[in-house]
Amino acid sequence: MTTKQQVVILGAGIGGLSVLKELADTGVSMDDVDVTLVDEDFSHFLGFTLPWVMRGWREEDSIPIRPNPQALQGITTVTGSVRRVDVDLRTVTLTDSTVISFDALVIATGARNAVDAIPGLQHAVDAGTAVHYYSAAAAADAHRALSSFTGGKLMFLVTSAPYRCPVAPYEGALLAADLLQDNGSRAATTIDVYSPEKQPMPSAGPYAGQELITMLAGNGIDFHGERNVATVDGDNRRVEFTDGTTADFDLLVFVPPHAPAVTLDGDGWITVDPTTMQTCHPGIFAIGDATTVTSPSGRPLPKAAIFAKNGAAAAAQNALHYLGKTNYDDPISGEGYCFIDTGSHTSAQGKGDFFGLPHPAIHLTAPSTALHHDKQREEDDWRALWESTPAAVG
Ligand SMILES: Cc1cc2nc3c(=O)[nH]c(=O)nc-3n(C[C@H](O)[C@H](O)[C@H](O)COP(=O)(O)OP(=O)(O)OC[C@H]3O[C@@H](n4cnc5c(N)ncnc54)[C@H](O)[C@@H]3O)c2cc1C
Repeated sequence: MTTKQQVVILGAGIGGLSVLKELADTGVSMDDVDVTLVDEDFSHFLGFTLPWVMRGWREEDSIPIRPNPQALQGITTVTGSVRRVDVDLRTVTLTDSTVISFDALVIATGARNAVDAIPGLQHAVDAGTAVHYYSAAAAADAHRALSSFTGGKLMFLVTSAPYRCPVAPYEGALLAADLLQDNGSRAATTIDVYSPEKQPMPSAGPYAGQELITMLAGNGIDFHGERNVATVDGDNRRVEFTDGTTADFDLLVFVPPHAPAVTLDGDGWITVDPTTMQTCHPGIFAIGDATTVTSPSGRPLPKAAIFAKNGAAAAAQNALHYLGKTNYDDPISGEGYCFIDTGSHTSAQGKGDFFGLPHPAIHLTAPSTALHHDKQREEDDWRALWESTPAAVG
């Protein structure tokens, strides 16, 4: 009797589920391979639906995506929270002490919010002067705060980089402007975005960020780059930056500090080979938001769904190669895109090669309702794949 090889995937979000799909799509026989998928609750979301909750276009409870049993047919699912990966014993330990052995491992556990990392920020949230939209519940809170905002200084603050979705702070500001326009408070409101980045979307090259700043300005929103927050004073509604300057707000909407949900080899984002997505441990791969990947031009690859999917394609192929089931490696693709909600149910788009040299040369398209429909269709297609389609692997 031969022992089956064990492939374990940690995280059933965009990246982890995409690994399943990629394994199935290779056409390689998986008869002698067991695939195990671990997730703490088997519920994930498409990040771009969170700003829609903040805008009021969607309800909080419409956001979660829960793969149905048919879509996960043929694999073993384990509900549990990953505590530790032992690279020597080649085991994963869950918080309930369950131990899972692997021959090949893909870590796709994403990023988590770390609001406590900025002094005063959690207090400002508790005091009701600061909100964010990086979870469904928080986005619903942000919607309530914006809906009752009657005018004054509205500040969008990127608290640190990296964070999920390079355009999310800016589309957040555009959607807030759109909401305030609808409820009659826009004329009485100034909107400013503060960010540690020199310009938005640094990973897209020199052009898209400037085009986004122009788009913001056209909507009466000012961008302030290279501003690193030191503390937030929620009682006095003031942000202090590390350069000693301050800025006042009446309502603060922030992008939270981020941290990897699961780490490997100490704290911090998981380092991988930027082409194969393999960590420094053979047969252990990491993809998506959990990782740090530097493009050939020296820019960080964005934490975006398309790159979780591209990473999944590479990791699936390279795990099969590692297990001896194929004879070739597959590098991650640098082709990516993101939609930017611009209000009034329109979206712009930035699309191209994020690995381009001497730098990526991505531009933004003009906003259109057609692009907004494309964005909505992306959610429909993903939901159809996991909430109603049988047998992803088998
Ligand atoms: C506000 C916002 C807006 C965004 N907008 C866009 C956009 O417009 N375009 C775009 O491309 N991307 C966008 N994103 C980013 C996109 O959602 C992520 O890049 C993508 O989800 C990353 O996939 P992932 O598999 O790495 O992580 P996730 O999809 O987050 O999946 C991680 C999975 O791991 C599980 N997990 C976490 N910790 C553990 C643990 N300890 N044990 C077990 N399981 C665990 C979770 O339950 C989850 O199912 C946005 C994100 C946010 C928050």
